[in-house]
Amino acid sequence: MHAVSSARPTPLTSQGLEPSLRRCYELLDMTSRSFAAVIQQLDVALRPAICIFYLVLRGLDTIEDDMTLPRERKVPLLRSFHEMLRQRGWTFTDSGPNEKDRQLLVEFDIVILEFSKLKPAFQDSIADITRKMGAGMAEFVDRKGVDTAAEWDVYCHYVAGLVGIGLSRIFAQSGLEDAAVGEREDLANSMGLFLQKTNIIRDYLEDLEDGRIFWPKQIWQRHARELADFRRPAQRIAALACLNHLITDALRHVPDVFAYMGALRNPTVFNFCAIPQVMAIATLARCYNNYAVFCGVVKIRKGEAVKMILEARSMDALAHVFHEQLAEISRHFPMMETPYYATAELILRIRKTCGLPDDPNITSTGALVRPRSTAGKLMLRRTLRWSLLSVTIGGAVYVLLRTPIHDLPPALQPVQSALISWQERALEAYRQVREPQASRD
Ligand code: MG
Repeated sequence: MHAVSSARPTPLTSQGLEPSLRRCYELLDMTSRSFAAVIQQLDVALRPAICIFYLVLRGLDTIEDDMTLPRERKVPLLRSFHEMLRQRGWTFTDSGPNEKDRQLLVEFDIVILEFSKLKPAFQDSIADITRKMGAGMAEFVDRKGVDTAAEWDVYCHYVAGLVGIGLSRIFAQSGLEDAAVGEREDLANSMGLFLQKTNIIRDYLEDLEDGRIFWPKQIWQRHARELADFRRPAQRIAALACLNHLITDALRHVPDVFAYMGALRNPTVFNFCAIPQVMAIATLARCYNNYAVFCGVVKIRKGEAVKMILEARSMDALAHVFHEQLAEISRHFPMMETPYYATAELILRIRKTCGLPDDPNITSTGALVRPRSTAGKLMLRRTLRWSLLSVTIGGAVYVLLRTPIHDLPPALQPVQSALISWQERALEAYRQVREPQASRD
């Protein structure tokens, strides 16, 4: 198991840094405060390379996200972005005014300068990943969303799996991790896919409002005609079924996450990689069967997040977090509305593969613990709700019929007349049915 890192992280911009590197750390802090905080956990030998890697990909992503750039301009830029890393002084000032990271591209010459100071092996890894990601993003510009579940994996590979692969190469090239960490690209890819799918699932509403769709069409079309329909409360059951389906798909990557994390040996790298993973599993657990995903932002409480981040320093601690969050998911299995069997089966398999304790809510056959009592309670609640409604309506009708018409408020008088006339017509119809029978007897 991994030792707890005793060294306190030093602030990114503390020591006598060169102004250009300091500016890169400032840009990092501007683009992602949370990533800047995580990088601080890393060994000082890795920080500049990981920071530049992040800024380069963030620059590329700013171009991908920019809806003001015409396609003819955007696609060649995405495809050639990796070449700009070798062009001293290159900057880009044509981002849309609302792109939040446009300043990064305005000052991109500084990123290029710091890139050129990295070890050649780091430079090659960063440029190679940038080239592949740019080509992948260009491919998806014309597709307008993601179609099949398989395509979802491909898209997530381009925008996140490649990040995992690039980071792993840099870890191995630094000598802090074994060469094997850089070679198992399938595991590194899963690390990225797990995070990316979580973000896509959580950001349903935000992306929809921005006119972007990342939920795979073939999956959501099984539950609704338009993706936006899930926002209507009448579509609640369909929305939750689709949401749970996607969460189950994301959970498929958990065994790979464990295999990857188990191969790391540097405590600072371990913590750096573990933080986003524990945040992701906690986010999925919070989103599972939760209609709030369709109404706003589902977030993990700050205290809970800080606790997990501090704890995620060993395989044992990681296993503990996943054990608890998977149990949180099985605790929220919908009994009646959506079959949960596929999720239950997968969770059992994950627990077995990753060596996690038994699930407190699922038996070894995939049945829910105490399903009858839960189902029974639900049935009882529904029966009571209907009985209450019938008694209320019946009582109101009785009172309405028994009250003298002049004592009623004027609005209710025609209602009483209508009820009486219906009652009389019903009695008449009943008599017509009964009387011929009575004469036959
Ligand atoms: Mg993007």
